[in-house]
Amino acid sequence: MKIGIIGAMVEEITPLLEFFKNAHLNIQTQTIGGNVYHCIHIKQDSVYIAYSKIGKVHSALVATMMISYFGCEKILFSGVAGGLRKDLQVGDLLIATKLCQHDVDISAFGHPLGFIPESAVFIESDAELNSIARSVAGSIGKELKEGVVASGDQFINDDSKKQWIIQTFGACAVEMEGASVAVVCAAFGVPFCIFRSISDSADTNADISFDEFLESASKVSAKFCIEFIKKLGVGI
Ligand code: SAH
Repeated sequence: MKIGIIGAMVEEITPLLEFFKNAHLNIQTQTIGGNVYHCIHIKQDSVYIAYSKIGKVHSALVATMMISYFGCEKILFSGVAGGLRKDLQVGDLLIATKLCQHDVDISAFGHPLGFIPESAVFIESDAELNSIARSVAGSIGKELKEGVVASGDQFINDDSKKQWIIQTFGACAVEMEGASVAVVCAAFGVPFCIFRSISDSADTNADISFDEFLESASKVSAKFCIEFIKKLGVGI
């Protein structure tokens, strides 16, 4: 089995790479299109890890490469997000049940916000991987929340914008890559699961909170990701 794991920022994949280094597994790297892909071969399985750089375009590029160049059969995203619900506090972990692009607007032509013709406002993540995520959470005693994740090429640190995203899309978290990874995976028919740990609350304090908690929240998500791939049967 070939599994691709994507983060947006180097901080999000560092704990994953450290895990594999500490396990004394050989990590090969390949640079393509300005991204470094870390390739780890474990018996009959391969794990590919890369950070894409921030935003929907970069993450779509990496998801496409993971699938069409490296042949990944499952895509996982591990990283941080802004929480939009009161029960999503810094360090909490969630999976996206479905994802949308909050910054897509061709409503001038009568389309709903977030809608692109021949696509859909919401793209659902893989039910089977999500149920594996729930069982992983149960077995390690970690609470796993879930809900709609809204992605856009903006860091949200504004209360009124935050409320607008909640009301328009029913989102529970906001970030900048999940929906584009979802679009690519859906286009290729590759199952995917998006894990995010909360770094901030997308409010006026979000930039300060993000800087303070990026590293610790990234570790929460990465730790979960490792347990997840073990559950998928990767012998680590
Ligand atoms: N401090 C960084 C920029 C971080 S952008 C720099 O200066 O380079 C925020 C990143 O974390 C994105 O990858 C996004 O997916 C996620 N994220 C966390 N909180 C977010 C929020 N409130 N709004 C949007 N994205 C958020």
